[in-house]
Amino acid sequence: MSKNHVMKMSRLYAPTLKEDPAEAELASHKLMLRAGMIRKQAAGLYSYLPLAWRSLKKIEQIVREEMDAAGAQEMLLPILTDAELWRESGRWNAYGPELMRVTDRHGREFALGPTHEETITDLITNELKSYKQLPVNLYQIQDKFRDEMRPRFGLMRGREFIMKDGYSFNANQESLQETYDAMKDAYARICERCGVRALPVVADSGQIGGDTSVEFMALADAGEAALVYCDDCGFAADEEAATTQVAVTEGSGDGTLEKVHTPGLGTIEAVAAFFGFPENGTRKSLALIAEDGTPVVAIVPGDHELNDCKAEKLFGAYHLMSEEELQEHGLFKGFIGPVNLPQGIRLVVDETLRDSKKWACGANEVDYHYTGACPGRDFTVDEWADLITVREGDPCPHCGAALKGARGIEVSQVFQLGTKYSASMGATFTDEDGKEKPFLMGCYGIGVSRTMAAVIEQHNDEQGIIWPVSVAPYEVSVIALDKKGEAFDEAARIADELAAAGVEVVFDDRAERPGVKFADNDLMGFPYQLVVGKRGLKNGTVEFKDRATGEREDLPLAEAVEKIAAVVADARAQFGA
Ligand code: ATP
Ligand code: MG
Repeated sequence: MSKNHVMKMSRLYAPTLKEDPAEAELASHKLMLRAGMIRKQAAGLYSYLPLAWRSLKKIEQIVREEMDAAGAQEMLLPILTDAELWRESGRWNAYGPELMRVTDRHGREFALGPTHEETITDLITNELKSYKQLPVNLYQIQDKFRDEMRPRFGLMRGREFIMKDGYSFNANQESLQETYDAMKDAYARICERCGVRALPVVADSGQIGGDTSVEFMALADAGEAALVYCDDCGFAADEEAATTQVAVTEGSGDGTLEKVHTPGLGTIEAVAAFFGFPENGTRKSLALIAEDGTPVVAIVPGDHELNDCKAEKLFGAYHLMSEEELQEHGLFKGFIGPVNLPQGIRLVVDETLRDSKKWACGANEVDYHYTGACPGRDFTVDEWADLITVREGDPCPHCGAALKGARGIEVSQVFQLGTKYSASMGATFTDEDGKEKPFLMGCYGIGVSRTMAAVIEQHNDEQGIIWPVSVAPYEVSVIALDKKGEAFDEAARIADELAAAGVEVVFDDRAERPGVKFADNDLMGFPYQLVVGKRGLKNGTVEFKDRATGEREDLPLAEAVEKIAAVVADARAQFGA
């Protein structure tokens, strides 16, 4: 351990707030403001004050160590990126208003880099020439700029934020896969070492079944993404994209088609209750107009929803039928179904219903439903398709165990780009066979500032932040209960000795009441607190508190430094330091 300096709390620039700031909704945003870690300059622009900066530097260091261990090399590209490069790749227009554009005094256009595929591809073009030089994996840690439509939630969605972005250049798919897998492993370790519980969620699948893009989602109620995951086999997916094999219930009865008077029962809930089925035993029919004008009835299990993303893929920019459109097509709200469907309406049914019979469904007549309706016998399905939004409790598509639901914050993403940029920008190398080929590229991004916010989302309580030791601004705070005298002197001595032993120490030397000091230290969330007071010293002890568990222990004064240094070393080791 290297020698550290003691930070005196009386000198620490961390202006705390007593009240929750009205502008903040998320725990991380509130707590960073309250603990004096960040201040807003303008929408989506934040100053990182000393506590935040220390924590960010630790996250960056973890990223560096894991990147370097995986064979990547750190470098730094200019933040300003030439518009010409963006035009070459076709993104000057495609990126839209999120790209922050600037013009220099000569009228030349630039963008503040939101990501650097173009710049890095331009850099290596004409310099990396032979397959013998490959693979190359380069990364940087830098401020990125995106003119987000809705910058919000503090550091979660800023307009200027810190990102680690990395790019690999590979000669062939095997090599790209190798780099990609190594990055994926490194990303998982980075999350672990930062104390972030994250799920690798497949964002894109390749043709041969493996993934070509994975997002690491930090589990948190505040997350923007709805996820499903499987505890048994590790499968995880965005709710929007996940598929499932839901076991659907069939209706009861002997399978005779029967029309039943169901006056006023126009909802799934009412119909299920009336027949005494679970909602899953009924069929939900949605009437819509596809982008090309085709009227469609889409049917899903009664307890599931039509997934908007999947529906858009099938039907284009579709809309649900209005009252007039229903009337025009001879359909009745609440009583739509597959049997006796008016001419010209396309019937598309969810895959999970393929093998089910004896449906309870609308009869296309006001106040009537059918029971015992069977596909093939009573109606013809035009197309079977994956239509539903998967939800908690549905079976895992890989192993069948019940899926769990969670919300997630995207902290990082790995991506196989293939030749997307190298081809459009003419970045080629000479391969083993003497042929000129575009590089295969991968890109790998981590939101460093967003990761800090995610850590706090996952580690806080009523009192404040609870830092994992690996990314805590300081590891231990030594709190003197008196502002002078023996307790103060002993606290100062312990703080010095801990720092000399390599521990990162804050010394709360302020002339404040103990209650104020405890509250501030809890708010700032240092993992360990050491309270030094007259009463304890009389018995030859100091009080050691673990911020995470709240456990307190009296340590003999003479052993305190050694004991605490050991506890800190252990904690660091647990996070892989
Ligand atoms: P999102 O879907 O949340 O907008 P993204 O997929 O556009 O993110 P990437 O281009 O994959 O983001 O960028 C890599 C990482 O940078 C993200 O995983 C995220 O952690 C971080 N990031 C992206 N946009 C922001 C932002 N506006 N503020 C803070 N961090 C961000
Ligand atoms: Mg992303």
